[in-house]
Amino acid sequence: MKIGIIGLGLIGGSMGLDLRAQGFHILGVSRRAQTCQQAIDLGVVDQASMDLSLMTDADLIVLCTPLAVMESTLAALKPYLSSDAIVTDVGSVKVPVVRHLSPLWPNFVGAHPMAGTAESGIEAAQRDLFVGRPYVITPHSTTPPDAVQKVREIAIALGAKVYECSPKAHDRAVAWISHLPVMISATLIAACMSEEKPEIIELAQQLASSGFRDTSRVGGGNPELGMMMARFNRTELLRSLSCYRDQLDLFIDDIEQENWLAIEAKLKNTQSSRSFFVENKD
Ligand code: NAP
Repeated sequence: MKIGIIGLGLIGGSMGLDLRAQGFHILGVSRRAQTCQQAIDLGVVDQASMDLSLMTDADLIVLCTPLAVMESTLAALKPYLSSDAIVTDVGSVKVPVVRHLSPLWPNFVGAHPMAGTAESGIEAAQRDLFVGRPYVITPHSTTPPDAVQKVREIAIALGAKVYECSPKAHDRAVAWISHLPVMISATLIAACMSEEKPEIIELAQQLASSGFRDTSRVGGGNPELGMMMARFNRTELLRSLSCYRDQLDLFIDDIEQENWLAIEAKLKNTQSSRSFFVENKD
């Protein structure tokens, strides 16, 4: 089977490395000539080009570009696709992608592999990025089951755990566990940098250890990706941010009123709730 990957960055590159190692023939298209050459040199693809006509022979194409250009990329790709080609994507937000891309191509399957690093670009591509990670497939009422099954097989070949849900449920759930954390983490870094005394900020930088590394990680990642989450998942992100602000206000009230027992009870609750989200997942 020939697999096309459009957008040879962290996600597209990592996918190419793993699928090519399993014997799939990988055709890659990216925006810059330098990236195409790097993709060949790094063993990410068998062939690479800046020209979408390379996808003529592809059986399944994965759109791995930034969210903002997914729709225009598929529109430009259409003339080169064979009629039974399957197109899927990896975008972090699903409602707008599925809404705009499904009418363009009946064999389109929205999907989101939930794996990443703080890095971006082809240099950041790595083997086994998706192993053990969730791979969410978000079909809608007219998505052909055969096409969904093919995307499921690719996700399994990458070692991922496959989940299926509606685009709407996906966007609401990832607002809580992916998009909100990016904004909170970024706000943490910004708040620390607002310290007025230079000697204190310097000391804090020297003392920052594992706790700060964990909590600041996603806020220190790819800025374009974070902006796209806010732009394309605006409603759900605003809902979760507003709830977060309420929770923060409750903490501030408790601390101002020296409600130590209430704070301890709340922290006991969060200590046990955390395991519902992250335990046994590494
Ligand atoms: P990335 O490392 O910046 O890679 C995107 C690549 O797309 C760029 O390197 C760029 O390659 C290429 N590109 C940009 N515009 C293009 C166009 N018009 N045509 C063809 N190629 C184009 O970003 P990423 O982290 O891999 O994210 C890509 C997609 O994956 C996004 O939709 C994102 O929502 C999704 N995603 C990301 C993560 C994550 O944590 N990073 C996780 C899951 C899903 P050139 O070098 O050629 O310019």
